[in-house]
Amino acid sequence: MTKPLSTPILPPAMLGILGGGQLGRMFATAAKTMGYGVMVLDPDPQAPAADFADVHLCKPYTDQAALQQMADSCAAITTEFENVNADSMRWLAAQGLRVSPSGDCVAIAQDRIAEKTFIRNAGLATAPFLAVKNAGDLPDDLSAYLPGILKTARLGYDGKGQVRVKTVEDVRFALSELKHQPCVLEKMMPLVSEISVIVTRTRAGEVVSFPPAENEHANGILDVSIVPARIADTVTARARDMAMTLAERLDYVGVLAVEFFVLEGDELVINEMAPRPHNSGHYTLDATLTTQFEQQVRAMCGLYPGKTDLLRPVTMVNLLGDVWGEDGSEPNWEILMTAPNSKLHLYGKKEARIGRKMGHFNVLADDATDALEQARAIMETLGNQRSA
Ligand code: ADP
Ligand code: MG
Repeated sequence: MTKPLSTPILPPAMLGILGGGQLGRMFATAAKTMGYGVMVLDPDPQAPAADFADVHLCKPYTDQAALQQMADSCAAITTEFENVNADSMRWLAAQGLRVSPSGDCVAIAQDRIAEKTFIRNAGLATAPFLAVKNAGDLPDDLSAYLPGILKTARLGYDGKGQVRVKTVEDVRFALSELKHQPCVLEKMMPLVSEISVIVTRTRAGEVVSFPPAENEHANGILDVSIVPARIADTVTARARDMAMTLAERLDYVGVLAVEFFVLEGDELVINEMAPRPHNSGHYTLDATLTTQFEQQVRAMCGLYPGKTDLLRPVTMVNLLGDVWGEDGSEPNWEILMTAPNSKLHLYGKKEARIGRKMGHFNVLADDATDALEQARAIMETLGNQRSA
């Protein structure tokens, strides 16, 4: 039976998560720390979250017996990635479990056309975009979107499934390269910087946001997040407002990450959202009163969201498999492990591959620039950098 909204789910209740990657692992750590049980559904026998879960159901996300076991054992369900089957989440909700975010919200975030249309209809700014369901859809005049980026509507991440285009011919060619999947054609924006805001919203409508992170990418993958972001206070306030408005419009429950482009004149447009904790929120593991993963636990359990104050300026650096040796040898951890203001987080992945997210580290300092400089200096000591 569905519990009344006001009844919080308390430890040692079992919490279920669809997906057992690094985000699931850090969720499991937070939930276990608070005294909850954790059940992970992930078909990968080496799922990083399995190390910390009480139960790892090593089955596909649509496996009916596994979903039934979750329904029988768990008090609430969440997810760690947007490409989870939204129908599995809807089925679990129909069994009376508290599922957050809802399958409907996940379905919107899974599809760039639905996502950008929703954001625009919520009265929030996006880059000019055109939904392209097939090549026959293309109007003759695309000048409002060129030069631009053609992005597949589904399953793109870390810059994958994107082609830069300058002319109508480029768009036609790119569409055929992308096998005529539904796409969005988006105008290339002149970016001053990129930021993200992570929001937590409960079923009762309580909503809080973390301080924006300023994000730098390398080869399409997040490289560093700098907090506080080096933007005006008014821009910070506006970004937090826009992100919380989006969560409210979605009637979102859980942790929602919202990525923004900062343009000239401090204009903000929303790029995309993720219905889960986000790589750019890993700074909260060491630099805020509450982590984004504790917020995920709190939101799904109907607890009030924790305080989001930044305790100290911080830079987060992603550790990709590129930093491991070609023979699989470990990076040189000595400086990173002995620096008293740096914090290493590894995801327990056995095999290091180019571009694979293996872990991250946070460096805390008196100001953001100082933290960034120290983080870069530490990065240099890890050695083994393979040329990509
Ligand atoms: P992904 O799902 O792979 O993260 P994004 O849409 O966030 O896809 O695009 C990845 C990166 O590409 C962005 O962080 C940004 O640096 C760049 N990018 C994407 N869209 C635009 C755009 N319209 N204008 C300028 N840069 C863009
Ligand atoms: Mg992105």
